[in-house]
Amino acid sequence: MQKIVFTFFTLLSLSGTTGAQVNPEKLKRPKLVVGIIVDQMRWDYLYRYYDRYAANGGFKRLLNQGYACENTMIPYTPTYTACGHASIYTGSVPAINGITGNAWWDNMLGKTVYCVQDDSVKTVGSNTELGQMSPRNMPVTTICDELKLATNFRSKVLGFAIKDRGSILPAGHSADAAYWYDNKTGDWISSTYYMNSLPQWMKDFNAKKMTDKLYEQGWNTLYPTNTYQQSVDESKAYLAKPFGPRFPYDLKKFAGTNYGVIDATPMGNTLTFEAAKAGLIAEELGKDSTTDFLAISLSSTDYVGHTFGPNSIEAEDCYLRLDKELGDLLDFLDEKTGKGQYIFFLSADHGAAHSPSFLKENKIPTGQKEDEPLFNDLNKLLKEKTTAS
Ligand SMILES: [Zn+2]
Repeated sequence: MQKIVFTFFTLLSLSGTTGAQVNPEKLKRPKLVVGIIVDQMRWDYLYRYYDRYAANGGFKRLLNQGYACENTMIPYTPTYTACGHASIYTGSVPAINGITGNAWWDNMLGKTVYCVQDDSVKTVGSNTELGQMSPRNMPVTTICDELKLATNFRSKVLGFAIKDRGSILPAGHSADAAYWYDNKTGDWISSTYYMNSLPQWMKDFNAKKMTDKLYEQGWNTLYPTNTYQQSVDESKAYLAKPFGPRFPYDLKKFAGTNYGVIDATPMGNTLTFEAAKAGLIAEELGKDSTTDFLAISLSSTDYVGHTFGPNSIEAEDCYLRLDKELGDLLDFLDEKTGKGQYIFFLSADHGAAHSPSFLKENKIPTGQKEDEPLFNDLNKLLKEKTTAS
C-alpha cells in the first residue's frame, strides 16, 4: 500500500528524441493486485467497530494509509452475492453483465440455472458434484480478464473463496484457476474448466486437513463478552445458537464429520487466507514485473451474519478477527511481494438488514412476510391479468 516507485529515465530520454511524450504515471505497474470482497460487510462496520480494530490490523491501515470511497452507492438489484461480485469485477450492472441473481430462470432452457452452474465440466479435487462450475453464464469480462488481455495473457490470475461464485465470477473467464471449498469433503476444489487435476501445492494443502485442526481450536471470543458493546447480549432468545448457548463454542465434534460448519465461523476466513497465501507462494504471484491478480472473497462473514444476525457478538467477533487477519495478510504481502509493489482493495458485495426481532424489541417498525403466500397471491394476480378474457 506504499507508493509504487519506478524509474523511467531511459523511456523518457527515448521519447524526448522523437518528440512524443510518455506519461510515466501511465507506465507504473504494480507487481500484484489483491482484491478482497468481504461478503455481507456493511459499510458502517468500518466505523461501528473502529475503536476495537487493532492499530496494526487491516481496517485502520487501509483507512489511514489508503483511500476510502465514502459515497458509495449500490446501483442495482438484487443485492445478492453473485450480483455484487460480478458488478464489482465487471464494473457493470446485472442488466448488462448477465448475473441477475444467485440463480435465475432461463427462458431458453426452460429451467432455473445457478449463476456458475456448468454441467459440461467436472469437479477437480473431490468426488462430489460441487465442482461442476465455471464462469460461462457471465457474458462479459472482469477486470482480471482485461488484465490478461492487456498483458497478452502473461499475467497470472487466481481466485479463492469458500463460495464457488465468490471465486469464479471475480477471477473471470481467462483465470489460471479459481478454487472454492467443498463443504462435503473439507477440501479446496476446482473444475475441468480450469484444469484436469489439482496442482501439487493444493493437494498438499488439502492433505493438511486444516478444517479439522481449526475445529480442534473451537471458537471463543477475542475479548470478554461484556466488552462487545455494539452487540446484543448473547442471552437474547431470538438469537440462533447452533453451536451452544454461550461462548466458548466447542467445535471438536465436527472434525471429520461435518465440514460445512466452518462456513459460519471466523475460521472459514482463516482457511481462505491460508489457501490463498499457499497459492501466491506456489504460483509465484507478484514475483516478476508483469502484474498478477489475486482475487479473494471472504464468504464466512456472510454465513456468520445470516446465522447469528448483524448485531450479534458472533458478528462483531468475526470482524475483529478479520481485522487482525487482514493486518497479517498485509504483512505477508509486504514481505513476499514487497512494500509499495502491490495494489490492495477491499469492498463488499452487499450489506445486511437488521433482524426483525431485534428491531421489534427496540420498538422500531418492522415485520416479516412469508414468501409462499406472497408468491401465491402474485401468481394468482398474474394468471388473472394474462388469461384472455
Ligand atoms: Zn454475499
